[in-house]
Amino acid sequence: MSRLLEAEKHILFIQKLDKAQTDLEYWLTEHLRISGIYWGLVALETLDNPLALEKDKVIEYVKSCQNQDGGFGGHTGHDSHLLYTMSAVQILAIYNRLEDINKDAVLKYVKGLQNKTTGYMMGDIWGEMDTRFAFIGLAICNILGSIDTLRIEPIVEYIEKSMNYDGGFGSGPGGESHAAQVYTCLAALAIAKRLDLVKRDRLSNWLCERQQSSSGGLNGRPEKLPDSCYSWWVVSSLEILGRRSWIDAEKLQTFILNCQDPDNGGISDRPENYADVYHTCFGIAGLSLLKYNQHNLKLNPIDPIYCMPYRTVEALGLRSGPKGWCDYVPKSWV
Ligand SMILES: [Zn+2]
Repeated sequence: MSRLLEAEKHILFIQKLDKAQTDLEYWLTEHLRISGIYWGLVALETLDNPLALEKDKVIEYVKSCQNQDGGFGGHTGHDSHLLYTMSAVQILAIYNRLEDINKDAVLKYVKGLQNKTTGYMMGDIWGEMDTRFAFIGLAICNILGSIDTLRIEPIVEYIEKSMNYDGGFGSGPGGESHAAQVYTCLAALAIAKRLDLVKRDRLSNWLCERQQSSSGGLNGRPEKLPDSCYSWWVVSSLEILGRRSWIDAEKLQTFILNCQDPDNGGISDRPENYADVYHTCFGIAGLSLLKYNQHNLKLNPIDPIYCMPYRTVEALGLRSGPKGWCDYVPKSWV
């Protein structure tokens, strides 16, 4: 266990993923390759080391994942899906290289996934439904500067229908509240400028109840084990709600640091488990939101809505104020 953030080791851990092409694990996770790059890049950006991956090589690879339909697959030659299209757009936005792709084709693809009758967002042409896609559809269009591509009202309606009595959100109407879905719904409502629909106090309380008194870690829903990735899903949600100070940041930081592999780098879901790039990304992103402070180490700020470096979001013109919070919350919250 380590009390300090092992930044150098995490950078090496992420760099090594790129070179581990002979590992069985590499092939097993082929469908996630583009998302893996996005997670690694966000972690590296937050650690102030964006050039640790070979930028031009990454961009060429991302471009190779775009299909004729305008969407992106998880790997070259794979079918398009909204999730991977989001990862591709985020990577290119972080590298400031959105001009390298045909943006109109991407927008056309996203528009095609809005159900013509209901107006709800689907994840792929087979019609998979989930509140995550509401967020992703809106986020992609906003990042590409064309929010009007989608009909916003029915998307908001779908999220509203997925809101529960406890203030949280599930993956769809009637689904149990889950912290990751809460994040996607709040981020979508923020982009749609409809956070007024949220039960702010009730939801903030539900999110704070995710913190376990023993370990300080957060779980995704009641009765579940804590997991370092909820450091992102829960804390970004509280950040959007303007209630980050409601949880015990110090205890959560200790939990995240205890999930590090002190020898080989990387962060796992729970202490003593195997590290992976997904939890490395969201553990470090969580530390950034918590304003983690360590001598000689500066974590770059990350945007709680888009899960991209704050400087990227600012450069895209999606925020105006110094912290941007007032840009998307109801006036009564300010
Ligand atoms: Zn997790």
